[in-house]
Amino acid sequence: MSSKQNPARVRFAPSPTGFLHIGSARTALYDYLLARQTGGSFILRIEDTDQKRYQESAEEDFSNALDWLGILPDEGPEQGGPHSPYRQSLRKDLYRDHAEQLINSGDAFYCFCSSEQLNLVREEQIKRNETPHYDGSCRNLSQEEAAKRIQAGDSHVIRFKVPKLGITTVTDFLRGEITVENSTLDDMILIKSNGFAVYHLAAIVDDYLMAITHVIRGSEWLPTFPIHALIYRALGWKEPYWVHLSVLLKPDGKGKMSKRDTQLAQDQGLPIFTKDMEELGYLPESVINWIALMGWSYDDKTEFFTLEDLIKKFSLEKLNPSPAAINFSKLDHFNGLHIRNLSIEDFAARIKPWFEKAGFTVDNSNLLQIAAAIQTRTKKLTEVVGMAGFFFQKNIDLTLDRIISDKLTASQAAEAAQKIKDLFLDLPEINGDTAEQPLRDIAAGMELKAGQVFGLLREILTGQKISPPLFDIIPILGKDLVIQRLDSAIEILVS
Ligand code: GLU
Repeated sequence: MSSKQNPARVRFAPSPTGFLHIGSARTALYDYLLARQTGGSFILRIEDTDQKRYQESAEEDFSNALDWLGILPDEGPEQGGPHSPYRQSLRKDLYRDHAEQLINSGDAFYCFCSSEQLNLVREEQIKRNETPHYDGSCRNLSQEEAAKRIQAGDSHVIRFKVPKLGITTVTDFLRGEITVENSTLDDMILIKSNGFAVYHLAAIVDDYLMAITHVIRGSEWLPTFPIHALIYRALGWKEPYWVHLSVLLKPDGKGKMSKRDTQLAQDQGLPIFTKDMEELGYLPESVINWIALMGWSYDDKTEFFTLEDLIKKFSLEKLNPSPAAINFSKLDHFNGLHIRNLSIEDFAARIKPWFEKAGFTVDNSNLLQIAAAIQTRTKKLTEVVGMAGFFFQKNIDLTLDRIISDKLTASQAAEAAQKIKDLFLDLPEINGDTAEQPLRDIAAGMELKAGQVFGLLREILTGQKISPPLFDIIPILGKDLVIQRLDSAIEILVS
């Protein structure tokens, strides 16, 4: 069995019940990688059969998220394709037809049990310590009897008729053969009383009709996986490769990420939903790298991957079925790596909107220099305004308190600032080679520590305690602006 089968047709099949989170983004990424690697197709299918949980905004979110991550589908509701429509609510008749085909072959049946009746059965089973399951009341109704009741308008569902005896063996790509006793499998509902198909039928029919070669999905589907395989077999179809991905665990590794944990993490500003990642200052490249490694590895050492690397190096064989704990700090780490991997031009283009959003007018003439000064120090794009906003400010907001921190008196600060100004006016070029020693001499002459003078200068030029190195900043600000800021500071200090 090989994942290198050419070309793979894989589908990402989210239900529009919420925003795209890291778990589903990971599934979509693996789909995309396999499709690109084998010259195949990546298909987006919207599984909107659950009308009650439908959220209108979710679908737009999926497109935006895939777009931002750079993993666009080849076929889908927006892209179209040879198997349109790619939205299950528009494929209702296909499911009904196949359910009827299963009825005709004796692999499915109409069930008229009311919910009251089913509840009673369920309660009895619980009392007897049995796992609740359908008791088979309608399994053996004759076709005539069923037809009569349907004619009479009796509410009904269609259920799959799981063989009562024997075993079923299915093969998961990562876990190998899984064998279950058929007596443990339920006669699942395929078509609900409102006429809508459920996942167990709709996904199977679509996967077959859309010629899907690899079904890559979450391991929450493992318990019902044998039923899905049985439906394939009952319809006489060749099964795809089934790949059930690892479960994502909470950061402490204790248990699955529940809905509540997800909400909690989001409230703490952690990157859970793709839509939030950009605002939190992450690059799509970093998110891709991070999620790729949640359950997949290339070898024991390589951790830096671009999307292109992943297309070359990804393989289903190296997916790990064991649960993986989400490590949020790893994303910060990858973000730093990917930021450093950008060309200066690219990094400059990514930071520009952040300064603009903060209300600055960005002068392209020095943006590249600014980018170069902060690139290696940036872990998240959220930091760049705090780090380098002062470059775009005409006047920085200096106050006496801020200038004279670091145990300097106002008169000492004024004297030092004046001396720095005189020094700078004298220097044809202000850089580390020409200015560092003279600045140290100023400190020594005033019996101050060199750090106090450098700190003062930093505060005067940037309005910040922390900034890129002084001699990176000064050439970008330019001599005129440097002198102007020293003048403003001296004015405040002597007034
Ligand atoms: N609609 C299902 C879900 O969102 C898809 C599962 C699958 O990929 O088959 O969980």
